[in-house]
Amino acid sequence: MKIRYLGTAAAEGFPAVFCNCAACKAARKDIGRELRTRSQMLVNEDLLIDFPPESYYHAMRFGVDLSAVRTLLVTHSHTDHFYAQEFVNRGYKFAEGMASESLDIYGNSEVLSVYEESTRREMRDAVREHIHLHCIRPFDSVWAGGYEIFVLPAHHTPKEEALLYAIRKGKKALLYLNDTGAVSDESMRFLEKNNFCADFVSMDCTFADDIGPHSDRHMGFAENEKLRDRFLENRLISPNAKYYVTHFSHNSTPLRERIDAEASRRGFTAAYDGLEIEI
Ligand SMILES: [Zn+2]
Ligand SMILES: [Zn+2]
Ligand SMILES: [Zn+2]
Repeated sequence: MKIRYLGTAAAEGFPAVFCNCAACKAARKDIGRELRTRSQMLVNEDLLIDFPPESYYHAMRFGVDLSAVRTLLVTHSHTDHFYAQEFVNRGYKFAEGMASESLDIYGNSEVLSVYEESTRREMRDAVREHIHLHCIRPFDSVWAGGYEIFVLPAHHTPKEEALLYAIRKGKKALLYLNDTGAVSDESMRFLEKNNFCADFVSMDCTFADDIGPHSDRHMGFAENEKLRDRFLENRLISPNAKYYVTHFSHNSTPLRERIDAEASRRGFTAAYDGLEIEI
């Protein structure tokens, strides 16, 4: 299973879109290395998690054929995770020779509403008919494009059922945990019941080493360590599993050298835009 981080920032990006704090100023001085765009992950060539506004830029920068994506899993409807307007360009005269004519989008009911609102004005019928929407809820399990997907509830916002994903294909399995605070015991039991054992864990690290007090709807290194321990106690992680952290806010000064050192001190790897991993 090939995993690629296309974006690794929180909602505002790093440097943040309208910000002139010291961290953002420092990042702008070495933008080629420090730029973190809004979070997105590509699994193999055909499964995508989230669709931020930079999806077009990600495809150009990293040579990704977005037409080959057959399955899109959306965590929730926040703008940094779902820029649905772009889908009006997926077909008709705007896209020829697409590798996959159809695309399946999985998300909660709010994601589906955002899709309808965002595409209502401009999407042609010829485009719409090849994009299939699937409303999913926590503790669903679905087969999509050859992947077995287990859906978990995020602890993120009272306004919608934000989702986390556990994904399995053949003998390989990964956990994608943006945006969330602690993962519930019920989620642990659900994964256990499905004999899920992760080879790769990607965790929200919005707050990095800021020890707070901060909101419990995201995590930092301290919460990441606690979560790793709970997964290990529940035997949901393989002994050789890899732990990555991502979704950094500009408030946590996620300059590469600093954040890499902080992450590795705790046994994690800090993701960066373009990072590729094979599990
Ligand atoms: Zn986010
Ligand atoms: Zn800033
Ligand atoms: Zn969010």
